[in-house]
Amino acid sequence: MVIVMKPDASAADIAAVVGRVEESGAEAFVSRGVMRTIIGLVGDVAMLHGLNLRALPGVADVHRITAPYKLVSRENHPKRSTVWVGGVGTRAPIGPGSFTLIAGPCAVETHQQTLQAAQLAKAAGATLLRGGAFKPRTSPYAFQGLGVEGLKILGEVRATIGLPVVTEIVDAHDIDVVAEHADMLQVGTRNMANFALLQAVGEAGKPVLLKRGMQATIEEWLMAAEYIAQRGNLDVVLCERGIRTFENSTRNTLDISAVPVVQTSSHLPIIVDPSHASGRRDLVVPLARAAIAVGADGVIVDVHPDPQNALCDGPQALAGDDLLELAAAIRSLAPLLGRHTAGPPT
Ligand code: PEP
Ligand code: MN
Repeated sequence: MVIVMKPDASAADIAAVVGRVEESGAEAFVSRGVMRTIIGLVGDVAMLHGLNLRALPGVADVHRITAPYKLVSRENHPKRSTVWVGGVGTRAPIGPGSFTLIAGPCAVETHQQTLQAAQLAKAAGATLLRGGAFKPRTSPYAFQGLGVEGLKILGEVRATIGLPVVTEIVDAHDIDVVAEHADMLQVGTRNMANFALLQAVGEAGKPVLLKRGMQATIEEWLMAAEYIAQRGNLDVVLCERGIRTFENSTRNTLDISAVPVVQTSSHLPIIVDPSHASGRRDLVVPLARAAIAVGADGVIVDVHPDPQNALCDGPQALAGDDLLELAAAIRSLAPLLGRHTAGPPT
């Protein structure tokens, strides 16, 4: 941390800052310039924050120079991590050596719809099945998901298809039942800053897919991941799903630069959700190509056997030819970036 003193700070002001820092057990290094003095601090950042140095006379500014997150930071963990999801025989990696396709319906509606979506997903090379049982809908009148019934359907489809299941948790009270049925817990954009939920998934013993809050900075998102890690769970995969901007031709604005920015700051894997980022089927494949090219560790996409009649997010769901195009893009582009893919079974 660096303290910048005001140009008119007195010697007593400087001594007071140094005194408060040294009393706490940290070190202070004073550097007197022509115009102003700066003081470099070495010590525990959280403790230094607690000293409230900004409030002392003569202090102009306090700059932090290390990241406020530790466990998820790349500073302390230079090698990028791989998170494994699923049980024996179906375990799938998400991380630097591979490019992972997660696909499935936005919402679980019926057993048959989920099974058909899972078959489409698997045929396209997906190694994980997505599907929402608890749906966080903007409107209270919209389909809210089947809840526990939906979790059971996901469990049955997993048994038939053999893909580990990723599903969203919206309420910390549901943690036991969701963790019992899911292989990976999804925290959605609307809950990224629900700290009680983050702590609950941190203790649930399952990998977590943490979507970026639609209004969250990358630092806030990584702090949310730190909440999960701090409860003992480092199996966190980040998902860029678009942010709110003034642009309204797409549902959200895909912040593609978040991928390399996160990769320089954190060791956690990061994937992209082109379906929720765009809200438009015609943009899903182009944005997935961008995700591969920018170095993402995978994509998560909505798939539905009958998008016209989907109860949730039909306009962005892939089916048929679009899905084949996505599979072809992953198969041809990901290896150019040094990524292994599961590849569609032939
Ligand atoms: C979803 O993946 O079904 C979902 C609701 O996404 P998001 O939280 O990104 O809106
Ligand atoms: Mn959706």
